[in-house]
Amino acid sequence: MAGRLINHGFPITKDEIREAQKRHRQGDDLEQLEEYFQRSRMSISDMLERYLPERLTIKEALTNPLDKLLLCENCNCFWYADQIDVHCPDCNWVCKTVAKVKPKKTRVSKLKVFGGTILTAEKAEARAIVACKSKKKAAAIIDISLAQFNQAWCESGDINELSIGTQSPGVIFIASSDDPTGFAPAN
Ligand SMILES: [Zn+2]
Repeated sequence: MAGRLINHGFPITKDEIREAQKRHRQGDDLEQLEEYFQRSRMSISDMLERYLPERLTIKEALTNPLDKLLLCENCNCFWYADQIDVHCPDCNWVCKTVAKVKPKKTRVSKLKVFGGTILTAEKAEARAIVACKSKKKAAAIIDISLAQFNQAWCESGDINELSIGTQSPGVIFIASSDDPTGFAPAN
């Protein structure tokens, strides 16, 4: 190997890559580029193959097709690219096209409202509701066995009951005897 090229060992900058690609497009061959950049032909051909995506703001990203959008999940920034498996110019993380990024699972607590009959303090049967995540939990709150629960209770689909129950999960509401839509917390 002949004498070391001056820039050997120095990090390649994005500006160099852009300049190399521009000169190459204008007709410079590897030898000329090696001379100009003082880097080995291997580095030069690497520079010519490197793909420099353009950074997009979130606003710009929203106007681009998802399969042309790359997301660096490390920096949380968007890049526009015609290629896949492009490294993030900022952190070198392999970006994925947004179309392939799975949305993060959001934990939605699935509250259900269960309804059934309950004996009031006055020993009268009344409609009762309770909001919680499972039948098992509901049975425990009402203080009956799961078997008893399954016989007399089921999931409510009534809008009024859903809205009342989910406001205070775990609280047993009992229907008032004179207002069919009115519920009051059981004591
Ligand atoms: Zn990054």
